[in-house]
Amino acid sequence: MITVLSITTNLNFRGCSQLFAGQVDVSQVAYRPRESPFPMISVDEAVAIVMEHAQTLSEETINFTDCLGCFLAEDVFAKEPLPPFPASIKDGYAVIAADGGGTRFVAGGSSAGDEPGGKVVPGHCVRINTGAPVPEGADAVVQVEDTLLVRSAEEGTKELEIKIMKAPTVGQDIRKIGSDIGMGEKVLRQGQKLGPSELGILATVGVTKVKSFKPPVIGVMSTGNELLEPGETLIPGKIRDSNRTTLLAQLRDYGFSCLDLGIAKDSPDALLNLLRKALDKADVIVTSGGVSMGEKDLLRHVLEKDLRAKIHFGRVFMKPGKPTTFATMEYNGKRKLFFGLPGNPVSAIVTCNLYVIPAVNKMAGNPNPSRTVIKAKVDSDIRLDPRPEYHRVVLSWLPDSPVPVAKSTGNQISSRLLSVNTANALLLLPPRTPDKPEVKRDETVDAMIIARL
Ligand code: AMP
Ligand code: MG
Repeated sequence: MITVLSITTNLNFRGCSQLFAGQVDVSQVAYRPRESPFPMISVDEAVAIVMEHAQTLSEETINFTDCLGCFLAEDVFAKEPLPPFPASIKDGYAVIAADGGGTRFVAGGSSAGDEPGGKVVPGHCVRINTGAPVPEGADAVVQVEDTLLVRSAEEGTKELEIKIMKAPTVGQDIRKIGSDIGMGEKVLRQGQKLGPSELGILATVGVTKVKSFKPPVIGVMSTGNELLEPGETLIPGKIRDSNRTTLLAQLRDYGFSCLDLGIAKDSPDALLNLLRKALDKADVIVTSGGVSMGEKDLLRHVLEKDLRAKIHFGRVFMKPGKPTTFATMEYNGKRKLFFGLPGNPVSAIVTCNLYVIPAVNKMAGNPNPSRTVIKAKVDSDIRLDPRPEYHRVVLSWLPDSPVPVAKSTGNQISSRLLSVNTANALLLLPPRTPDKPEVKRDETVDAMIIARL
């Protein structure tokens, strides 16, 4: 969304200086809870909570070329009609239809860009180009293909007389004043997304400043002592951070402005410091990892104890993504949203699609922020899980079938990033019941679109 510049924004936070000391005590590992203190809620409940707290941000008036992907905060009206003069649709001759077919004296020319002028009188015509003003008196345009040259002069540089082969009708090949856009017509509605065509409409009606909703800025952070940067060589006990790359790319792919917050170590102070620094710039902070039951899963403690954020949920009945955590806080009079996504790479991607993208859509002013869900036919039997499962598939459309076929990406374990390789949808599989232990081949199920088709 937002300006062309901010689409590729990649602010980096490492290097900030002020340090904060938190209050989370990690010394008593033996006494940590052995059961999650958070009640298990359904995905629908979790989405409803997120959407209730995700509020559209303020309005701003910006240059129309800077608002590609933004949502309009006002209706836009045309101040003038388009075309502003009767314009020719063809290259040919402006004529009087009542003169019928036959010969005409050529009384001059009207080209696109010329000031309207001249007059066509009976028996005469004016040579005209597409987009040129139709002269007074003329009420039809005859395309050049329907004429013959009768007489010319000055070695062909001047047309004197032509013959019209087909009798014209009144209004033929003329765009009337306001026939494309009427004067005062509402050309764009509040809530519309400004894509390339809509920017063109703003250009054509001459509205160069528009009121649109301020798009949210999203900070993305990874957590974990085990994480290395993608360019680093593996050493014992370490893996490379992939979540930051996928989450930033996923959000940017939707046009959102993102901040790369880097990696926080699994210590309360490291988490607190990165979160605090992000609060000044980001409306939404998306983290991955550190929300499970391990003694190093400290994010929720830091959110609650140090930032005094309110955790709205910390456990969702879904696979993958059970420990997904959502919290909010007020900071300098602004509401900040925290999404603590699970660390497993696939869980992070699935939960970003389910919770983060609809929330930031709504904050950006999108009146239909929910994800697109369509029907798809599974191409093989799939055993259902006790939890609702978000099964990664590739949808493809076969000739003569409007319903796409969904092909599983294979092993769905949440650590296997290859299960999202080429995936363009998530099958929304219901939980297993004794009556329905599996989805059968050719059965139709809901599929949430997660990539450009
Ligand atoms: P956590 O949720 O922190 O317990 O992490 C769950 C699993 O995801 C562990 O195997 C982590 O090593 C892995 N993981 C956590 N964060 C990332 C990341 N940013 N990139 C890749 N794997 C991760
Ligand atoms: Mg971790």
